[in-house]
Amino acid sequence: MPIDKKQIIEKESAVVDGIELTADWNRMFEQRVMHYEDSDALDKVRDTPGAESIGYCYQCGQCVPVCPVDAVGEYGPFRVYKDLLIGKDLFKSPELWKCTTCMQCLRVCPKQVDMIQIMPAVREEAVMEGDVPEELQEAFENTFEYGNPLGESQRKRADWIQETGSNVPIMKEKKEADILWFVECYPSYHARGKDASAALAKILNALGTDFGVLGTEEKCSCDSQRLAGEVGLFEEFAEENIATLKKYKFNQILVTDPHALNAMRKKYPEYGGNFDVIHYTTYLAPLLDKLDLKNTLNYKVTFHDPCYLGRHNGEYEAPRQILNALPGVELIEMGRCREQSYCCGGGGGGMWLDGFMADHVSERLSENRIREAVETGADLLVVCCPYEVSRFEDAVKSTGNEGKLQVKDIAELIVEAMG
Ligand code: SF4
Ligand code: SF4
Repeated sequence: MPIDKKQIIEKESAVVDGIELTADWNRMFEQRVMHYEDSDALDKVRDTPGAESIGYCYQCGQCVPVCPVDAVGEYGPFRVYKDLLIGKDLFKSPELWKCTTCMQCLRVCPKQVDMIQIMPAVREEAVMEGDVPEELQEAFENTFEYGNPLGESQRKRADWIQETGSNVPIMKEKKEADILWFVECYPSYHARGKDASAALAKILNALGTDFGVLGTEEKCSCDSQRLAGEVGLFEEFAEENIATLKKYKFNQILVTDPHALNAMRKKYPEYGGNFDVIHYTTYLAPLLDKLDLKNTLNYKVTFHDPCYLGRHNGEYEAPRQILNALPGVELIEMGRCREQSYCCGGGGGGMWLDGFMADHVSERLSENRIREAVETGADLLVVCCPYEVSRFEDAVKSTGNEGKLQVKDIAELIVEAMG
């Protein structure tokens, strides 16, 4: 209904509920109608199964300052939503691939606009249309062909055991164990991942854990491929891994990788895989007093919370308990830690999009994080996700911080303390 202007009393200044409202722009004598050129782009996303919540956005903007991608280039659900309002097609836009599904925005969004659902849903359509950045497509193809995104031979998946001289039983021979250790791809194939695997094997043996691995029967958990839009690949691999796991008798699955933890806890039950799954830090934290930690380390360390261990699966304490139990280790927290932790950039397919991201942001997320870690004065950045050692070691070099900061998996640090 039009406002009767005679009833309007203009004030020189106005403060309502503590908010200063004095300004010409705020004299709303007429009803304001906002016109957008095109809402087809928004409808197209909103009509995609799984992506409906994009339509809940009421543009409060709270998601932007917490988005790790916005720290290195303009991003966040609010910006994605605004682009849709002006008719930009998300299905064809580079913006589709920037989100790492880190979950920072969902933590603060009052309307539950859920990028963890929206991004995979829209990306799945883009993948079906073949609109995928080249390097991501290569990771998908490697996974399809070889069972891992690195493109390494499936037959060599357990070679790290011999190469590192580790004592690791294989379930095919052992048939049953208390703990089935799901090693994952980077800890099986990547040079620094193998170091962490050898360290974890040493700890499990020192604890007398009854454990075994799937070896060449294990395939990628595919959680990151799913979040990057390759849902079909995820389903195929989930069914295969579940069938393999069901061949053996065990009480608990121990995972090195928080992404595998996420897949097995949240998605595998949908495919009939109901397992008790635990991250290795959660498993080790209460057992550290059983280890002979005779070496004093003399390290100032800082710790990076992996998004898929912390925000996605609620584990913040176990890695800190471990660090606090190691002799001679002083933990200095970064400003962005725990629930507010920054993202390494590897989640949601980001692990295979570094080249693409370099063209769209001012610096890699891992570089931004390394600068923060260096600022704490720590000499060691401790991680507990297999994506991170390689990402952060590269970022230490590219930010010119070689010699100032080392990057180690938490298992490597425990082994150093064991001597
Ligand atoms: S926090 Fe949620 S409602 Fe607010 S702008 Fe971001 S997505 Fe929209
Ligand atoms: S999930 Fe993370 S990267 Fe994606 S929009 Fe939200 S805050 Fe940004």
